Amino acid sequence: MTIPALAIEARVLLLMPTSQDAARTCDLLRESGLDGFECTDIHSVCRELAAGAGAILLTDETIAEDGAELLTSALENQPSWSDVPLIVLSREGASRSKLSFREPVNVTLIERPVRMHTLISVIKSALRARNRQYEVRDNLIERQVAAESAAAERERLRITLASIGDAVISTDADGKVTFLNGVAQRLTGWSQTEANGRHLSEIFRIVNEHTRQLVENPALRALQKGVIVGLANHTILISRDGAERPIDDSAAPIRDGSGNQVGAVLVFRDVTERKRSEEAQARLAAIVESSDDAIISKSLDGVIRTWNAGAERLFGYSSTEAIGQPITLILPPERLVEEREILNRLRRGERVDHFETVRLAKGGRTLNVSLTISPIRDAGGRVVGASKVARDITSRTQIEADLRRSEERYRTLFDFMGQAFCVIEMLYDDCDQPVDYRFLEVNPAFEVHTGLKDAVGRTMRELVPDHDAHWFEIYDRVASTGRSVRFVSEAKALGRWYDVSAYRPGGPNSRRVAVLFTDITERKRAEDSLRDADRRKDEFIALLAHELRNPLAPIRNGLQVLQLGANNVTAIDQARSMMERQLGHMVRLIDDLLDVSRIGRNKMELRRSRVSVADILDSALETARPLIDAGGHGLMVSLSPEPIFLDADLTRLAQVFGNLLSNSAKYTPHGGDIWISAERRGNEAVISVRDDGIGIPNESLDSIFDMFSQVDRSIERSTGGLGIGLALVKGLVEMHGGSVSAESPGSGRGSTFTVRLPALEHQNGHDLRHTHCAEPPKCDVGRRFLVVDDNRDSATSMAMMLKLVGNDVRTANDGLEAVEASEQFRPQVILMDVGMPKLNGYEATRRIREERWGKSIVIIALTGWGQEGDRAQSRDAGCNGHLVKPVSFSDLEDLLSKLTDGPAGLK
Ligand code: ADP
Repeated sequence: MTIPALAIEARVLLLMPTSQDAARTCDLLRESGLDGFECTDIHSVCRELAAGAGAILLTDETIAEDGAELLTSALENQPSWSDVPLIVLSREGASRSKLSFREPVNVTLIERPVRMHTLISVIKSALRARNRQYEVRDNLIERQVAAESAAAERERLRITLASIGDAVISTDADGKVTFLNGVAQRLTGWSQTEANGRHLSEIFRIVNEHTRQLVENPALRALQKGVIVGLANHTILISRDGAERPIDDSAAPIRDGSGNQVGAVLVFRDVTERKRSEEAQARLAAIVESSDDAIISKSLDGVIRTWNAGAERLFGYSSTEAIGQPITLILPPERLVEEREILNRLRRGERVDHFETVRLAKGGRTLNVSLTISPIRDAGGRVVGASKVARDITSRTQIEADLRRSEERYRTLFDFMGQAFCVIEMLYDDCDQPVDYRFLEVNPAFEVHTGLKDAVGRTMRELVPDHDAHWFEIYDRVASTGRSVRFVSEAKALGRWYDVSAYRPGGPNSRRVAVLFTDITERKRAEDSLRDADRRKDEFIALLAHELRNPLAPIRNGLQVLQLGANNVTAIDQARSMMERQLGHMVRLIDDLLDVSRIGRNKMELRRSRVSVADILDSALETARPLIDAGGHGLMVSLSPEPIFLDADLTRLAQVFGNLLSNSAKYTPHGGDIWISAERRGNEAVISVRDDGIGIPNESLDSIFDMFSQVDRSIERSTGGLGIGLALVKGLVEMHGGSVSAESPGSGRGSTFTVRLPALEHQNGHDLRHTHCAEPPKCDVGRRFLVVDDNRDSATSMAMMLKLVGNDVRTANDGLEAVEASEQFRPQVILMDVGMPKLNGYEATRRIREERWGKSIVIIALTGWGQEGDRAQSRDAGCNGHLVKPVSFSDLEDLLSKLTDGPAGLK
C-alpha cells in the first residue's frame, strides 16, 4: 500500500487589526524568508485551519479576544496530531493578558512593542514545532495504512479459506483449533466458535474404513515431526452427529516469519462422490469383462485399444494379441469400405445401432454379428475413438433363416391350401359389445369360399352390411376366452354354409382371431339330398313290403281253394289263373327291381339284334294287354306304313313300352283311351304312348323318371307300383342311345310319354322275327329227373310238376346228396340249384362230370342270377343250360327241347 504524500504547510496565517498591519507584517516576514497569508476575519481563519492550511497563526490580542470562542472550536476540530502554534501580540505584557481559551492551546504571547528580530525567532521556532507535528502525522498515517493492509490481507485469506472446496482446520502449536472454514464446519459438525480452543483430536475424528481403528491425526503428526503429512487412504471421518464420510486428508506445519512452528493446517475433502464413481467405474469394468458380448474400443485411426473377455471368446484373439492391432484384424477384406463408412459416421458423432454384418474370427472363420458402435469423446467433447459392442448372431441368423423358410412353407401352404384362412381383428362398441371385425390377412382360397374380393383392411360390415350378428358373438368368445371353437353355421347374407375352426393366435389381450373355414354348401346340399334319398328309400321299403305282400294274400287263398275245392274244377281253374296272375305280378316287380339295380350298377347287358318297332310293340302289348283290358280302356295303335328297324334288345324295349302302356292303363280312370304311335323322323324312331288319364302335375314332370319317384305315394292310392318303372324306362332307353320325355297339360288332362331311339338305315328287308319260328314242343315218354335244391319246397314242387307230366323224379337237398343220388339213380336230366350248403351246384356238377356215368347227363343250372357272367360260370362248371328262377314251365320246356335234340318230354 502506498501512502499518499501529505502537504507540509509553511505559511503563517495573519489576523491583524488592520489590513495595513497585515500588509506590513507580510512584508517583514518576506524579508526574513517567511511566507505570510492574510486572513480578513476570525471566520476566514477558522476556514483555513479546517482545510489544513497555514502552519501557525499570528494574531493580535484584541482580535483574538473577540473570537476566542470560535478559534477554540476550530483548534479542537484539528486531527489528534495537530497542535497549531498560536503567536499572540499583546499590549501590556503577557502576564496581564486577558486572553483566555476553554481548552489548553499552544499559545505564545509577545509583548508590544516587539522587536522584529524576536518575533522572527519566535515564528521560526513555532514553525519547527509544527514541522515535528507533520512528521508525527506522516508516521501515524504510515502505521494506519500498514494496519489496514494487514487486515485486508487477513480478510482475503479468511474468504479464501472459507470459499475453497476443501475443508481447512488450523491449530496452534499445542494442537488446539484456531480456525475452521465452512466446509470443515459442515464435515465435522463443529462451528468455529464451538471448536475454537478445543483439541483437534476432539473435532477431527478419523478411523480406517476397513479396520475401524482410530487413525493417527495427520495434523498432529505434522506438528510433532514438523513435516508435511501426505494423503492417508481409506480414512473415514466421523462427524459430531455420527455421520461417516470417506475423506482424503493432508497436513502441514505453520511457521512464523522466523521459522518457528506456530501451529498446523489440516486440509481434507469428502470423497464420497469420487468413491462412488470409482466403484461405478469398477462395476462397469466388471460388466464389460463379464459380458457375453464382445466389447472393443478403438481409436479414430482404427487401432484396437481395449478388448474384453467376450471379444476373446468371440473372435478367438487374446487381449494381448488384439490390443494395438488395427481393427482390420477382424474385418473381411471386402468389408473395408464398410469400416471407413462407420468411422466417418463416428467422426460426425453419430452412433451405429444394431448393424448386422460379417466379421472374421481368428483362423478366418466368418461370424454373423450385430454391431452397436458409439463415439468416445474426451473431456472437451471431441470424438477420440469408438466403442464397439459385437453380438454373435450366427445362430440367430440361422434361426431366422429357418423361421423364414418355415414361414415361407406356411405361406405357400396358406396360398395353395383349399381351405379359406383369415386373421380378423374384433371391433367393439362403447359397451364392449362385438359389432364388427376387420380382415387383417386372407389367403387366396378365402375369395373362393366367400366370394369377397379385396377384404384385407376392410370390415365384415363394409363388405356384407347385413352380416349375421351371431358370427361376431362366436368370434368374440374366442377372442375373450382363448378357447378354440369348431362349428358349422349358415352365413345367410352370403347364402352359404361353412365349417369353421376359430382360435386366438395371440395372448390374452389379443383381439385377433384366426379363422380356418370351408364352404360346405355343396356338401350340405348333398347331405340334404342324401337324407331325402334315405327317406325315400325308407318309404320305398315300406311300399315294397306292401306291394310284395299284396299278391301273397290271393296266392294263399288260392292254395286253400285248391285244397278245399278238390272236385270243383271251375273253382280250381279260377284259383290257378288268379295265382298265376299274382305270381306273374310279383315276378315282374322283382325283375324290375333287379333290372333297375343292374342299370344303376352298370351291370345290365343288352342282347342287340335287328328288330322292328312293330315287333317290340307287339311284345309290349302282350304284357300290357291284361291291364288295359282290366281298365276297360280303348287302345289306338298307329304305326307308320314303312317298318322301322332298330339295333336293339327286343325284350328290353318291349319292357320299356310295356311299362309305359301299363302306366297309362294304371293312371287312367276306368274306360279311358290309350294311344300308341310310332313313326320315323330322320334317323330316329319316335314312339309315343298317350292317355287321357289323371295327368301329371307340372312340378312333378322333372322328377318323374327318378328312382322311387311317385306323384302320390300314399298307400291308399297305390296302384301296385314301386316308383321304379319310369326309372327303368329311362335307363333302358338311354342304354339304347335314345331319350324319353313326359308331357302333360296338367292334372286330369292326360299324359304323353315320347321315346326317341336311333333307327337303322331303311332296308327293304322283312321282319326277322317271322323267319324264326320254333317248332311246337312235342311230348314224349317220361325221363329220369334229379331236382336238386336246398329249399325243399322248391325241390318238391318242381318234382311234383315233373311227375305230373309222367317223369321219374328224385330230389336232393345239397351238393353231396346230389352226387350220391346221381350215382344211384343215374338221371338223364339234373336241375341243379347253384347256391347250396356243403357242396354248391357248380362243385356238384364238376364231380358228376368227372364220373364216367356223369358225362352224358343234361345238367341245367337254376339260379337267381341271369347275367352273362353267371351263365359263363355255369358253363365252365359243366352245365348244359342256365335258367333264372322262378322258372316257368314253358322256359324249361323250350330249353330242354333245344338241349336234348328233340321233344323235351315234359308233357
Ligand atoms: P309306379 O307306377 O310304380 O309308381 P313309375 O316309375 O312307373 O312308378 O311311375 C312313377 C310315377 O309317375 C307314378 O307313380 C305316377 O304317379 C306317375 N305316372 C307314370 N305314368 C303316368 C301316366 N301315364 N299318367 C299319370 N301319371 C303317371
